[in-house]
Formats: sequence, C-alpha cells, structure tokens
Amino acid sequence: MEGNFEGKVGLVTGGGSGIGRAFALASARKGARVAIADIAVVGGEQTVHMIKQAGGDAIFVETDVSKAAKVEAMVDKVIEVYGRLDFAFNNAGIGGSLFTPTVKYSEETWDQVIDINLKGVWLCMKYEIRQMLNQGGGAIVNTSSVAGLVAGRFAGAAYSASKHGVLGLTKTVAVEYAQNGIRVNAVCPGRIQTPMTEDLIRRDPQRQAHNIAHIPIGRSGTPEEVAEVVLWLCSEAASFVTGHAIAVDGGFVAQ
Ligand code: NAD
Repeated sequence: MEGNFEGKVGLVTGGGSGIGRAFALASARKGARVAIADIAVVGGEQTVHMIKQAGGDAIFVETDVSKAAKVEAMVDKVIEVYGRLDFAFNNAGIGGSLFTPTVKYSEETWDQVIDINLKGVWLCMKYEIRQMLNQGGGAIVNTSSVAGLVAGRFAGAAYSASKHGVLGLTKTVAVEYAQNGIRVNAVCPGRIQTPMTEDLIRRDPQRQAHNIAHIPIGRSGTPEEVAEVVLWLCSEAASFVTGHAIAVDGGFVAQ
C-alpha cells in the first residue's frame, strides 16, 4: 500500500510515545529519515534509539508545539540536518481533564488543550508548509480523533472542540495549497491502546470495558494500525487525496 520512502525526510510530533512513535518506526522502516519532535525528552530519545537500533536514521528535536518560536526552530532543525521535509505527521496532543463536564472544566485546562491540540497543529503546518513551498510539494497528516467527528463525552468539550477544529484546519489548508503540490489530510483514531488510553483504563476499568463493547470490531486498535493509514496518506499512492479525514476506529463512527 505504501509508496517508497527511500530518500524522503519526515517529521512527527508527539513521536516519543504511542501513535507518533509507531509512525516514526514504520516510516523509518520504509527508508525515511525521521525527525522525532516531542516535549518529553526521554520518550523522544528512546524512539530515536529504537530507529537507530533497527538500522534507520533519526534525530530528536525537543519541542513544545504550542509555542511558535519552538515550532519554527523545530522545522529549521530538520532542514539544517536533513536539508528538506517531504512529509509531516502533526500528532502531538493531550487529553485534558477527562470525564469533566463543561460547568466543572477549568479555563486553564481549556486553554492548554486548545493550545496544544489545535493551535499546535496550525503552527506546525505554518512552518512546514513554508519549507514545502520552497521545495515544490509535500504531504501533511494531522491527528484528529473520532471525537472530532462525533461528541467526545469522556474526553470533554475542550478535547472534542480541538479535534473538530483540526478537521476544519485540515480542509482549509488543503484547499489553500492544493495547487502547490502539498496535500493535507487528517486521521481520526478511535480507541487506540497507548499511554493516553492506559491512563483512562486505570481510572475507570469498568466504563472502559463498556466502551470497548461499543466498538463494532470488538477491541481497541493498535498504534501500528493508525501508523499504516498515515503512511499511506503520506505516500505517492495517495496522490489525489487531500482535505480528507479517515477514521481508524474499528467501525465506531459508522454506527
Ligand atoms: P501519547 O500520550 O502516547 O502520546 C502523545 C505524545 O505527545 C507524548 O509523547 C507527549 O509527550 C507529546 N506531547 C504532548 N504535549 C506536547 C507538546 N506541547 N509539544 C510536543 N509534544 C507534546 O498519546 P497517543 O494516544 O499516542 O496520542 C497521539 C495523538 O492521537 C493525540 O493527538 C491524541 O489526541 C490522538 N488520539 C489518540 C487516541 C487514542 O485512543 N490513543 C484516539 C484518538 C486520538
């Protein structure tokens, strides 16, 4: 399904854990050189180590995606080391105050969720696209969620608003740059087994078992299953796909 990633340079935010790490490993296995950006130094460096152990080429860039100067420096670093940027997976995100209804949700957490999950994606695209325009093209995938397609009750309104926003951003930027050889798509994971959801399960195992029973395929997904879809969207095989959002959710939003 994937195109050839030999000679290509990729960037993944939130690459120190979960879905981002799975994508970083998968794209490196396909031959890409990969920049791993994360606010968490230990996790990011561990992903780089895993790629190098497997014979691949990767660097770590410490980044807070909610800060313009950091994001600009992140893209500059990729260009300094690898000279180009062919694909980017803007995936860093946080859950915020889970299980918290609107009247109890703090303004501080609202701002944090929107800053990282929504503004962070916009900032990443801003500086990635600047480089991709210089090169004559590229592919971007943004991480939304099934909570960007339907109500996200457990994650709360801020998370759902941020992920719905990512889809609006994705469509708008895709149309803006469609004639510049830049494709922009989104992936909407359902319940995926990562440190983010392990925390949910620890906090309320019964409710989580109930939620899994509502996934038509009958189980959580793996980070690798999301990574496969993102790889395809980043590849030449998806050359006529832009402004689209793909749910990777075991059939959850099809119900
Ligand atoms: P995760 O917690 O395992 O990984 C998220 C990574 O993002 C972490 O390494 C974290 O350090 C990094 N990060 C957080 N804030 C950052 C910041 N300000 N700057 C840079 N990096 C930052 O979570 P995951 O499950 O792999 O989630 C990845 C993405 O997928 C998130 O956007 C999440 O909202 C989305 N998602 C996850 C699920 C799921 O079930 N796991 C479902 C739908 C959407």
